[in-house]
Amino acid sequence: MNTLIYRCSGLSEVPKRITALTPAIFFDRDGTIIEEKHYLKQITDIRFLHGVISGLKKLKLINLPLYLVTNQAGIAHGYFDESTLEEIHLFLLRELAKANIFLKGVYYCPHHPTAKIDQYCLNCYGRKPEPGLLFKAAEIDALDLNWSYFIGDKLSDIAAGKKAGMKTILVLTGYGKEERAKITMINSPDYIAQNFLQATNWILKDYYYRRLERTSRLRVSENA
Ligand SMILES: [Mg+2]
Repeated sequence: MNTLIYRCSGLSEVPKRITALTPAIFFDRDGTIIEEKHYLKQITDIRFLHGVISGLKKLKLINLPLYLVTNQAGIAHGYFDESTLEEIHLFLLRELAKANIFLKGVYYCPHHPTAKIDQYCLNCYGRKPEPGLLFKAAEIDALDLNWSYFIGDKLSDIAAGKKAGMKTILVLTGYGKEERAKITMINSPDYIAQNFLQATNWILKDYYYRRLERTSRLRVSENA
């Protein structure tokens, strides 16, 4: 599978919503699938978190497209450049491919509202907690976001997923434990998982029941 690496070029409004049928699974990068390194800038610092590879393998059971969605303000702040980020993402994709895991897309936003570098200084709709990149993926691949899931270690991941109409899972890796303390009625995820593997187990169950519910609803309306 060819993975699309999509660079946010600055999003300011909601792209056209499309009628689609394919659900998908979206997840954050740092603190969710790899160790949080505070502006990761070199390949040698990449460590997959425990259970991520087995979780991604399990997700194959439902065969939904997988998307990595990441804020990369380190570029806006000048800590590393876009070619370094590309190397990191190509390395990640190669490592996943070794385990027979293929992502449909890697979407990143290099912007930040207080960036030192002018070209990246933007209050971007593609930067989580805004859902711009999720809508962009939906537009490109005709995805049904209301049937999709977002896994992340920050409430900004949860907010982006909720704004896009997805079910959301907070993982307690990365910043997850600190973030859990800030949960309120309004920003709460659908599920809190110890780690990525537990999140995928919950998705498998939830997706199965939703499909069952949908099929029986269809049967009822056929018989009506
Ligand atoms: Mg994160």
